Amino acid sequence: MAVETTLVLVKPDGVRRGLCGEIVARFERRGYELRAARLLRVSKPLAREHYAEHRGKPFFADLVDFITSGAVLALAVRGEDAIAGVRGLMGATNPADSAPGTIRGDLATLLSENVVHGSDSRKSARRELQLFFPDGLV
Ligand code: UDP
Ligand code: MG
Repeated sequence: MAVETTLVLVKPDGVRRGLCGEIVARFERRGYELRAARLLRVSKPLAREHYAEHRGKPFFADLVDFITSGAVLALAVRGEDAIAGVRGLMGATNPADSAPGTIRGDLATLLSENVVHGSDSRKSARRELQLFFPDGLV
């Protein structure tokens, strides 16, 4: 057990659908703390860097197009075991497999428009937080 900070993105579908408040509330109710927040339009270079692990996969171009298609809410979320805990609240990557009660299980139906991103490891969290909050956290 350790206090961790993780990167969450409310993706363009979530922002467009007005789900930011609902999603932030779920993290706060669980007991996590917001350390930073930023509403931004992701550039293509930032999108390619953020999703570098998926470069070369068949869905990569669509993924980059989608994440750059509108405003994104970036959050630095902190708490005990926050990296796995936040992923748990989000549910499985494919909403078809996400349990009811999770963000994706309650709010999404499409793999390509699954509302949220969360870092998947300490290494990813460190790397992704630096990309979205280059000036550091409060
Ligand atoms: N994705 C997709 N098609 C796939 C696999 C993934 O469109 O076959 C999208 C999906 O929106 C997912 C994102 O690419 O959230 C990143 O994939 P990853 O496996 O990292 O899932 P995540 O970490 O977001 O759960
Ligand atoms: Mg991932």
